[in-house]
Amino acid sequence: MTAPARHLTIIGAGLAGALLGILLRRRGWDVDLYEKRGDPRVQGYGGGRSINLALAERGRHALRAADADDAVMHHAIMMRGRMVHVGDAEPVLQRYGRDDSEVIWSVHRGDLNIVLLDLAEAAGARLHFDAGLDAVNFDSKRAVFRDPRDGSTHEVRFDALVGADGAGSALRGAMHRVRDLGERSDFLDHGYKELEIPPTADGGFRIEPNALHIWPRGHYMCIALPNDEKTFTVTLFLPHHAGADGGPAFDQLVDVDAARAFFARDFPSALALIPEFDRDWAANPVGQLATLYLDRWHLDGRAVLLGDAAHAMVPFHGQGMNCAFEDCVALARQLDAHDDLTTAFAAFEAERKPDAAAIQRMALDNYLEMRDRVDDADYLLQRALELALQARHPGRFVPHYAMVTFMRIPYSLAMTRTDIQRGILERATAGHATLDTLDWPAIDAEVHALLTPLEDVP
Ligand code: FAD
Repeated sequence: MTAPARHLTIIGAGLAGALLGILLRRRGWDVDLYEKRGDPRVQGYGGGRSINLALAERGRHALRAADADDAVMHHAIMMRGRMVHVGDAEPVLQRYGRDDSEVIWSVHRGDLNIVLLDLAEAAGARLHFDAGLDAVNFDSKRAVFRDPRDGSTHEVRFDALVGADGAGSALRGAMHRVRDLGERSDFLDHGYKELEIPPTADGGFRIEPNALHIWPRGHYMCIALPNDEKTFTVTLFLPHHAGADGGPAFDQLVDVDAARAFFARDFPSALALIPEFDRDWAANPVGQLATLYLDRWHLDGRAVLLGDAAHAMVPFHGQGMNCAFEDCVALARQLDAHDDLTTAFAAFEAERKPDAAAIQRMALDNYLEMRDRVDDADYLLQRALELALQARHPGRFVPHYAMVTFMRIPYSLAMTRTDIQRGILERATAGHATLDTLDWPAIDAEVHALLTPLEDVP
């Protein structure tokens, strides 16, 4: 059923804002989208961080709901698994799933944003660029937007605001001045810096394109994701400050020479792939990583937050955008189901908050796994058992990564089952070096006792 024409003003035409614009227009909503930056279709994408992103099933499902999947997948590169680089050994592919039906996709943030903006505009959303939300009067329902180019402002009347303006949300700040949202940010003591692997002289990829490359080094790591112009974006994750163990940290890498020496020692195979290391190191800032927790996501029927504005997370599960896209589908569904905005926003918050909290925790857990465990013998044995149990108990024992990445069951359910499964894996492999010596009847019995069959969301 199509809702009667009603009006929403979306703040932020990034990934979630643009997708929500399409979904709402298709349901008959009148939509205005306000974006602080200029139009990336005119002046190139100035996103400035995490140039490419891993897109998984949750995100693709949301794109399908907006008829955007085909256009986006045109730019996407398949990643079958993690290609782990340790020492001088040939890198090894650890598959994410059973076969090429269980993979993730690398997409360029700018390409993705542009595809979604084009579709939002074609669907009838009005796009306003160079318009950063500056102030809101929730009583008179007026919002002030500032043009960052010349500082000029203009005032707009709204019915309700949707905050898709990212982790530093200006709308969240304005809502908080009216009602305490219970905001708390936990900053990770690690930051990130991006570097680039260019194409080969004859225009090909320098390393295996269909993988997410990882150079795990215990307390820190590099990763690299492919781009469709045959480059890779490399991201170094490293502590900001040196700890008691004297391990490397950004504050020790005082200049390009120190950074280069660090890479020559710890990431020589990656350094050899980055000819413009000095330029990239000097040009790209160190990014901060944080988890944002809010007690409340909406101000009655006047404003609601989604995506990073409501629940920014660390990027180690590659789910921030995927989760934001799921939010868009959920909000559109709740707006369909309830005529009253207060009820719709409250229902959206009640539905999504436990799931956002779950993926926030799993994203923090995954950092340890990526930087420290992927080359560890215990981990590899547990991973082998996980796959064996998946084959022995199809639909009942579903690996953690598959539940989060290839399915759309609620994140909170994936987290609960992950905790149970991790216990089974740890108990079963304790004291063993191979799968051959395991007590299979006891393990099978435990799987049956602790796990019910799992069905995905249709
Ligand atoms: P954003 O993408 O941040 O968009 C917000 C938009 O609002 C921007 O266009 C901004 O210009 C605009 N804006 C800001 N302030 C205002 C204002 N005052 N007025 C108007 N407009 C405003 N997620 C994944 O799913 N997979 C990954 O592989 C992945 N990798 C990541 C790697 C890194 C290093 C980082 C930092 C994040 C990663 N993420 C990943 C997370 C992902 O980037 C975010 O979750 C996603 O961008 C959230 O989308 P959003 O639309 O909520 O916010």
